Amino acid sequence: MVVVCKFGGSSLADAESAGIVKEIVESSSSRRYVVVSAMGSVAVGQRKVTDLLYEISESSRSAEEEVILRHEEFCRGVGYRRCEKVIDEVFGKIHKIRDREYAASRGEYMMARIMSEVLGMEFVDGKDVISFREGKWDVRGSIEKAKRRLEGVEKAVIAGFYGEDENGRIRTLSRGGSDITGAVIANAVDADLYENWTDVSGFMMADPRIVPDPLTIKTITYRELRELSYMGATVLHEEAIFPVRYAGIPINIRNTLRPEDPGTMIVSAAQDYDSE
Ligand code: ASP
Repeated sequence: MVVVCKFGGSSLADAESAGIVKEIVESSSSRRYVVVSAMGSVAVGQRKVTDLLYEISESSRSAEEEVILRHEEFCRGVGYRRCEKVIDEVFGKIHKIRDREYAASRGEYMMARIMSEVLGMEFVDGKDVISFREGKWDVRGSIEKAKRRLEGVEKAVIAGFYGEDENGRIRTLSRGGSDITGAVIANAVDADLYENWTDVSGFMMADPRIVPDPLTIKTITYRELRELSYMGATVLHEEAIFPVRYAGIPINIRNTLRPEDPGTMIVSAAQDYDSE
């Protein structure tokens, strides 16, 4: 069985959460491909690294200091020794290239470099798995590119959210786009399951701001999910559905803070997966 798991920024907000991610990944040998987002926020009011990187591209010194400090702390916590080298390389290039999308992509790049070492898996650059053509991300081109890059690669940590266009320029997907990278990888490696690890235990049956402790929806079809998306459910990026839906790969929304929860399963036809 091959499982692709994507961990969002809230699952990788500090070294402690990275430890939980490591435990989850290592608890099953099927979890062979891990897609990561940039570091999210730990405390209320703290900004996500991607937001800070956008500010850096507009020359904010304080945003740069915050990104560096948070990565240094993260690296110390997980025992990653090449932190300084990676930070120097990344910020040197951000200042040289001076491109908003390039700067924004570096959060995922740094996280994948660090986590590949933490998990002992090969590092895969987002530019080698997501392809842009004529200004848009290209589904088929990306799947083909990812297939080529991952051929013969047993285990890998892949940087989400960005790719490369036909002119060799780094381009970012829309916000939350690491979900799309995960879906492309799931298709490319012919995964049995795409696990999307976030900070909720799946889709709720009611709005938790109105109904306290609502039950989680166990199984939902891709079609139903589309309807929910229109209603404003933002658990999963809408465009992450295309690469897996037609390949028949189910998506399992899981909660990193409650790994024992089964989460919500998104499938083509509900009866295939309902055990009761
Ligand atoms: N880091 C990016 C964002 O904040 C992409 C992602 O998390 O999927 O939108």
